[in-house]
Amino acid sequence: MSRTRFDLSESDLPRSWYNLNADLPTPAPLHPVTHQPVDLAFMSVISPRGLIAQDMAREEAIEIPEPVRELYKLWRPTPLMRAHRLEKVLGTPAHIYYKNEGVSPVGSHKANTAVAQAFYLKEEGGKAFTTETGAGQWGSALSMGCNFFGLGCEVYMVRLSYNQKPFRRFVMESYGAQVYASPSSRTAAGRQFLALDPKHPGSLGMAISEGIEAAATSSGAKKYSLGSFLPHVLLHQTVIGEESLKQMELANEYPDIVIGCAGGGSNFAGITFPFVRENLRHGQRTRIIAVEPSACPTLTRGTYTWDSADAAGIAPICKMYTLGHGFVPPGIHAGGLRYHGMAPQVSALLAGGHIEAQAFDQVDVFESGLLFGRAEGVLPAPESNHAVHAAIMEARQCTLRGERKVILFNLSGHGNFDMMSYAAFARGELQRYDHPQAAIDEALKDLPNIVQA
Ligand SMILES: *Cc1c(COP(=O)(O)O)cnc(C)c1O
Repeated sequence: MSRTRFDLSESDLPRSWYNLNADLPTPAPLHPVTHQPVDLAFMSVISPRGLIAQDMAREEAIEIPEPVRELYKLWRPTPLMRAHRLEKVLGTPAHIYYKNEGVSPVGSHKANTAVAQAFYLKEEGGKAFTTETGAGQWGSALSMGCNFFGLGCEVYMVRLSYNQKPFRRFVMESYGAQVYASPSSRTAAGRQFLALDPKHPGSLGMAISEGIEAAATSSGAKKYSLGSFLPHVLLHQTVIGEESLKQMELANEYPDIVIGCAGGGSNFAGITFPFVRENLRHGQRTRIIAVEPSACPTLTRGTYTWDSADAAGIAPICKMYTLGHGFVPPGIHAGGLRYHGMAPQVSALLAGGHIEAQAFDQVDVFESGLLFGRAEGVLPAPESNHAVHAAIMEARQCTLRGERKVILFNLSGHGNFDMMSYAAFARGELQRYDHPQAAIDEALKDLPNIVQA
C-alpha cells in the first residue's frame, strides 16, 4: 500500500516566500482620484510600510522573519495527503493529492498572512488594524494574529454573514477583536450605503470601504489590513506551494494539474505560484486551474480592465478581472468567493495564458464536497468545495481517457463552521444560480474612466 500522508518536519519550514513580481511584474495601482500610480505617501496612510515594500519588491525570494516562522510552527508545515479513498470511490486511475490548510488554529490558510501582517504592523510601532470580513474567516485569522502581537483589531463584517454566522463573530471576540455589521453607521461610506437600504445585506467591497475609511481617518492610530488580493497577501501564502513542492518530492511525483479556488486569489496563489515559477523558469508544464462560483464569475465572465478595489471607490484602482465594483453578489454559501474583482497578479496570469479558470454551480460543488468528506473524513469549507469539485471533474476525465494524471488541490479550509450551509444543501434548499449577463453588463457600466498612457 502506498503512503497516504507526506509530512515535513519543523526544520523543513520554508525560509522565504516566493515573489511572483520577479517573474511577472503587474501594472502599479492608481490613485482613486488623480489616477496617477499610487505612491508611498498615499499607501502608508493605510498600510504598514513593511507590507508596501513587499508589494513593490522585485526580488524572487523574500525572507520570512523569524518571529513569523516561530508562529507558523503552531500549525505548519501542514499535511499533504494522497486521497486514496476518494480515488477508489471515483474508480479513477488519477492520483489525487490535497494540501490541508484546514489544520490552522482558525481553520483556513488565512492565518498564514494574518500573523505576518500583524508582525509588520508591530515592527513599525502600530497599535491596531481595521479590516473587513465576509464569511468571518479572515476576521478570525487577523484577530488571532493581532492577539499574538498585542494589537487591537476592528472588524467590519458583511451583514449577511454577521447574521448567518454568529459563531465566527464569537471567535473574533474571543481573540479580543471588535466586530461591527457592515454597512455600519460608524463610517461615512457605511452611512451612504445604509441610506440606500437600511437593511442592506452588505458586500465585501462595502466592508473594505469602511475598513479603509476607519484607518484613513484615525490619524495614524490604526492601519488597514486586507486578507486577500494584494501582492503581499499572495506572497505570504506561497509558503503553501513551497511546502507542497517538497512534499510532492517525498511522494516521488510531480503534479500535472494544480487547482485552487479563487475569491480574491490568495489561497490559489499560495499553492500555485511556486508551480507557476517552475513552469516559467524550469520548463515544467503543469496545468494550473483557478475555480470560482458561477454566481460570481469574475475570471470566466468578467472583463480585464481598470476598476476600483472597493465599492465606494476610495481604494486604489487596479488592472484586474472584474465584474464591476458595483456588483452585489447573490447570497450564495461560499461567502469567501463573493468579491467583484480578482488579485491583479492572478488576473495577469490568466490574461497571459499562464493559468486557466473554471466556474461551477454551488449545488454541484457541494455534492463533490460531501463525496470528498465521506471518503476522506474532512468536510471542506464551501469555498474549498470548488477546488474539490474541479479535482473530481479532472479525475473523471482521467477515468474516461484511461489517463493516470497527478492532480493536486488546495483544501483551503475545513467546513466545521459552515454546517448551516451543509444543512441547507441536505434539505435541498441550495439554489442553482447563473448570474444573468444583463446584471454583469449593468455593473460594468460604472468603471472608472482610465486613459492609459
Ligand atoms: C477566504 C477563503 C477563501 C477565498 O479567499 P482567497 O483569497 O481567494 O483564498 C477560500 N477558502 C477559504 C477556506 C477561505 O477562508
